[in-house]
Amino acid sequence: MLFECAIVGGGPAGLSAALVLGRARRNVVLLDDNNPRNAVTRESHGFITRDGIAPGELRRIAHEDISKYGSVQVRRASVNAVRRVSHSSFQLATQQGELYMARKIILATGLKEILPPVSGLRDFYGKSIFNCPYCDGWELKDKPLVIISEGPNAFHMAKTLYNWSVRLAVCTNGHRALTAQQHEALGRRNIKVYEHRIVRLIGENGALQKVMFEGGGEYVCEGGFVTPQTALSSSIGQSLGCRTNALGGIITDDFGRTNVAGVYAAGDTAAVAPSQLIIAAGAGSRAAIGVNSDLTNEDF
Ligand SMILES: Cc1cc2nc3c(=O)[nH]c(=O)nc-3n(C[C@H](O)[C@H](O)[C@H](O)COP(=O)(O)OP(=O)(O)OC[C@H]3O[C@@H](n4cnc5c(N)ncnc54)[C@H](O)[C@@H]3O)c2cc1C
Repeated sequence: MLFECAIVGGGPAGLSAALVLGRARRNVVLLDDNNPRNAVTRESHGFITRDGIAPGELRRIAHEDISKYGSVQVRRASVNAVRRVSHSSFQLATQQGELYMARKIILATGLKEILPPVSGLRDFYGKSIFNCPYCDGWELKDKPLVIISEGPNAFHMAKTLYNWSVRLAVCTNGHRALTAQQHEALGRRNIKVYEHRIVRLIGENGALQKVMFEGGGEYVCEGGFVTPQTALSSSIGQSLGCRTNALGGIITDDFGRTNVAGVYAAGDTAAVAPSQLIIAAGAGSRAAIGVNSDLTNEDF
């Protein structure tokens, strides 16, 4: 069977694209291996009508919505290769050994995070240490917080977070991440700076209580933020020849079209930042409208 569109990735971007294309009566297959970026969190914030929802529950409701549209098939599968078969069709191969054919492809595979090499950080990430104040700043407001950042985003994070809490410490884990001017600006606001390597994070059940430094110092806190590096979860876009921007995201027009005819991208995989569920869902809707318009123009 030749699908009109194959969507790779079933986060808010891919799910939203599937809903819009289903409602546009398109034959769609959504292939997802169910490993979303925010899997480590207990709650998602800032998605209007769903503020505070568990990430899994948001997906469950999305699948329920999509199931009303019979032309959309959803498969648990990991796509490991996509190749162009003709000027108007692609073949997708999954790790599970299945092959799918589609006229259009939407890449909605999201990002993966590379956390600073701090022992134990994963135990707290998504529970009391987060990456985005817009997502999780409210829950940590006015608390003593640590910012773990080894690079140039350290100052930006401190500046942004200051509106949520003035009780901050920047920890650079042994790196010189701040200029003299930035040191001075932080000092004026009583924001502490620790440039020693972090040896241990102490806490219980994911709730951070203390950061311990090489040489014996410590900072007592109740949570924090980290500035991870990000990379695309999948290299399918690059293998098809999609161009990327300075942040590593796939470049698209307003309707998700990449520079490769028939290939669209949506969500974190295209935007990289700001990354929010609602922004990803909106981008999925735009890409679906792009796909539907192009199919209509080709066929009418
Ligand atoms: C710790 C943390 C907390 C966050 N909290 C919030 C919050 O409170 N509010 C908010 O708005 N945002 C939050 N975010 C950001 C939010 O998770 C992302 O912006 C959002 O998930 C992006 O949606 P997406 O659809 O682009 O990608 P994702 O949600 O990451 O979905 C991508 C999907 O593609 C699948 N996939 C990847 N490669 C393949 C492949 N080859 N084959 C098949 N499937 C594949 C993955 O398994 C995944 O299911 C948080 C992020 C993190 C890391």
